[in-house]
Amino acid sequence: MALYKTEAIVLRTRNLGEADRIVTLYTRDRGKVEGVARGSRRAKSRLTGATQLFTYGRYLMFSGRSLDTVSQAEIVESFAGLREDLTKMAYASYIAELLDVTVELGEPSEDLFELVHGALAAVDRGLPPDLVARWFELRLMDLLGYRPQLEACVSCRTGVEEGHFSAGEGGLLCPGCRVKDPTALPVGRSAVQWMKRLLVTDASRLGVMRPSERDSRVLETVGRAYIDFRLPRPLKSVGFLASINELA
Ligand SMILES: [Zn+2]
Repeated sequence: MALYKTEAIVLRTRNLGEADRIVTLYTRDRGKVEGVARGSRRAKSRLTGATQLFTYGRYLMFSGRSLDTVSQAEIVESFAGLREDLTKMAYASYIAELLDVTVELGEPSEDLFELVHGALAAVDRGLPPDLVARWFELRLMDLLGYRPQLEACVSCRTGVEEGHFSAGEGGLLCPGCRVKDPTALPVGRSAVQWMKRLLVTDASRLGVMRPSERDSRVLETVGRAYIDFRLPRPLKSVGFLASINELA
């Protein structure tokens, strides 16, 4: 069995047997990997802390035929706040699950690693989590090759500054082409500008961005429609997020 060292974020954990955990890691250099962390649910295990959900750590792994094994692990950033605050946990779960379902095992992308790290760190630091989620959705789609067309109508190529967003066509439709997708959602000029800004900003700038409540709602509706169109299955974390937002 080959041994390798990697830096990663824990996207998902599942219990296995009495004391073990299977962790889904998003690594900086190997993409998504899964590994068994034996004994990691015992209080005194050296693996316990570093195999908790959302932890950013360094891992020493044995590669196995189907599943790898976590041999040693140390915490780089615990992101404990994401597990202690329900709202933060709901948003972090959404971000982690979204990445987990959109990438296959073993497709390395340092950009995606930086993206998920930036998003979790931003939620942990207390930046507006809904804006972080919108940023993450748009940047994720961009990195996966689905950057939305916001400069010109996706159908006739006429320049537009607002219009109807078509998830299926992947961008804005002008008034003349709007009939091509009856499900396209109206997006005003300021919401379009926010989308463009989010696509080019990095996480550290999100704290100074303040879209109006109306634009925030449009960004959420459009972002979710675009994401849902690309997803193989509905996300479990969406129900959790909705129940948290109802309480707020
Ligand atoms: Zn058009």
